[in-house]
Amino acid sequence: MISRRPLVTGFSFIASLAAMALLLNSCSGPASALNTKTLTILYTSDEHGWMEGEEPGKGAAEMLGLWVDREGYSAGGSYLIMSGGDMWTGPAISTWFAGESMVEVMNAMGYTAAALGNHEFDFQTGGLVARRGESVFPYLSANIYLKGTGERPAFVVPYILREVDGVSLGIIGLTTTSTPYTAFPDYVADYHFGAYDSALTEIVPELQAQSPDIIMVISHVCAEELEKLRPLARELGISVLAGGHCHDTYVNVVANIAVVESGSYYRSYVRIDLEFDTDSHKLVSTKAVVRTNSGGVADADITAIVLRWRGSLEGDLGEVIGYTSAGIAQHSEDMHNMVPDTWLWKYPQAAVAASNYGGFRAGLPAGDITIESVIGVLPFNNKLVLLELDGQELTDFASSRGVALSGLTALGSVLHSDGTPVQLDSNYIVIVTDFMYSAYEELTAADSLPERTDVSWRNPVVEWIRSVGSSSTQPLENFLDATPRRTPERGD
Ligand SMILES: [Zn+2]
Repeated sequence: MISRRPLVTGFSFIASLAAMALLLNSCSGPASALNTKTLTILYTSDEHGWMEGEEPGKGAAEMLGLWVDREGYSAGGSYLIMSGGDMWTGPAISTWFAGESMVEVMNAMGYTAAALGNHEFDFQTGGLVARRGESVFPYLSANIYLKGTGERPAFVVPYILREVDGVSLGIIGLTTTSTPYTAFPDYVADYHFGAYDSALTEIVPELQAQSPDIIMVISHVCAEELEKLRPLARELGISVLAGGHCHDTYVNVVANIAVVESGSYYRSYVRIDLEFDTDSHKLVSTKAVVRTNSGGVADADITAIVLRWRGSLEGDLGEVIGYTSAGIAQHSEDMHNMVPDTWLWKYPQAAVAASNYGGFRAGLPAGDITIESVIGVLPFNNKLVLLELDGQELTDFASSRGVALSGLTALGSVLHSDGTPVQLDSNYIVIVTDFMYSAYEELTAADSLPERTDVSWRNPVVEWIRSVGSSSTQPLENFLDATPRRTPERGD
C-alpha cells in the first residue's frame, strides 16, 4: 500500500513546533518569497504489458515502489500519474488476456489518464471498449474522429480537467497520425486521425473556458514531432508536451515548456515538476527528468496482482514444447529464418513466406520453450494470408520491405533459396500476415484475391517446434538455419 510519510517522525515536541513555524513562515513569508505550489507528474508510455519488467526487479511493482520512496509519491499528494499509451500487447501475460491484466495493474498504480495509442486497437474496437470499461482512468485523444460523422468515438474524451491541491490542470490527449498503418489497418478503418495542430487549436479554447491553471498534452506522438508543435504550444499556453510511440527517452525544457518522452516497457519514467504561483496565477518553473526503473522495492499490492495473472497464464500456456540452450535472440538470423520457415512447412503449396521485422517483439529465453514464450515473440493477433504475386511483384516486395524471408534470398538480387532466379512472368504463392496484407499497398493492390486462413501466425511456429522434439542434448538451435538471407533492418 502507498502511505504518506509522516512529516514529523516523533522527535521532540519543540522540534515539531519549530518545523511548523518554518513551514508557516515559508507560506506567508517575506515579499520576495512566492506563494507557490508544485504539481508533480509521473509519466510513462509504451508500457506494452511489461508489468513483470524485462528483467526481475524492473516491473510495475518496483516502479511504484520507486515513486513512493524516491519521488515522494502518495495517492493523496500533489501527484498525477499518466501514460502516453500503447499500454498492452507485448509479453503473453498481457497479450493472452487482451490487455485486461495490464488495465488492472495500471488501475492499482493510480493512473489518472492515458493517451490513446495505436496498439490500443490490437484487440479491435470491442477489445478497446472492454478495456476502457475496466479502466478507472479515461483514455484521451483530441484528434480521433469517426469517419463520416466527424464525432469522436465514445471510448475517448479529448481532454480532462483535474484539480490537485487547489491547482487545476487541463490535460489534452493526442494519437499518432500513423495509426492507420501502425495499427492493424482493418481495425481502425472507421476512424480518421486528424492533424495535431488543428486538434489543439480546436480544443484549447474549449478548455480555456473552464479556466485551468496549467495546460498539458499527453500523447502517443514521438518527441521529434512534438518539438514541431512547440511554437503552437507557446501561443496556446501549453506547458508540457509529453509523448510516446518512438520508445525514446527525451527531455527538453525551453522557456518553461517541456517536451518529454519516457521510453518503454517500464524501463524508465519521466518526472515533471510544475511550480505554480497561486498569487499571480502563473507557472513559475517547469522541470523534467528521465529516471530508470532500477532498485525499487516492489509494492505488495501490485506484486499480488501480477502474481495472480502469472498463475492463470501458466495454467493456460505453461506447456513445454521445446528447449534452447542459449536462447534465440529477437532479431537473430535463427529467429528471422525460423518463423517464415515454419509457415512454408505448414503450407508447402506456397513458394515464399515473409514476416515484417516489426512483428518480432522479443527473443526466446534460454531454457524450456513454452507456448507463452512464443506469444512473447509474436504477440499480435495476426493471421496468415496466402496470395499470388507474379515474379516482378514478388521481387519488388522482397527487395523494398523490411521482411524476414523464407524460400528467397535477397542479399543482392532476389533469388530462390536454391540460387535460381525468380521468373518475372511466373506466379508464386506467397504467405504473409493479414497485417502485412492490409498495411502494404503493393500486396493489397495485387490482382489475386487473398486466401485468408484464419490460422494464427504463431500456430505453425508452435507446431513445428513441438514436432522437432528439441531437448537439452539436442537444443532447438541445432534445427535452425543461421545463414543470412538478406541484410537486416530496413526500417519497417
Ligand atoms: Zn505506438
